[in-house]
Amino acid sequence: MASKNFSSKTKAEAVRASRGECFYDGTRLNKNNTEIDHVVNKMRPGCTNDLSNAVAACKPCNREKGTLTAYDFQANKLGVTPRCQGFTQDGYRCQRNVAEGNRKYCHDH
Ligand SMILES: [Zn+2]
Ligand SMILES: [Zn+2]
Repeated sequence: MASKNFSSKTKAEAVRASRGECFYDGTRLNKNNTEIDHVVNKMRPGCTNDLSNAVAACKPCNREKGTLTAYDFQANKLGVTPRCQGFTQDGYRCQRNVAEGNRKYCHDH
């Protein structure tokens, strides 16, 4: 099986793209509580080690998410409206919520 870990470059880019907030619950991130999570879990088809699949997350979220999809984790476990998984033009994570009926993106993506 191929390596399923992010490069240090991708990790650094994911941290930058996060604007300092956990992708899942918005917790302020610092160097002690930041982990890089696979949006599409390693156990699921479609998992990649690209930036598109890398989000900065707080440790509790990374632990609790398990094999859930980002949508199911946010909607059903955290009880928050799931975030768009797209990026802004300047390379940050889109901070909008997913559009109605869409499990991954807002209307812009
Ligand atoms: Zn979190
Ligand atoms: Zn968006």
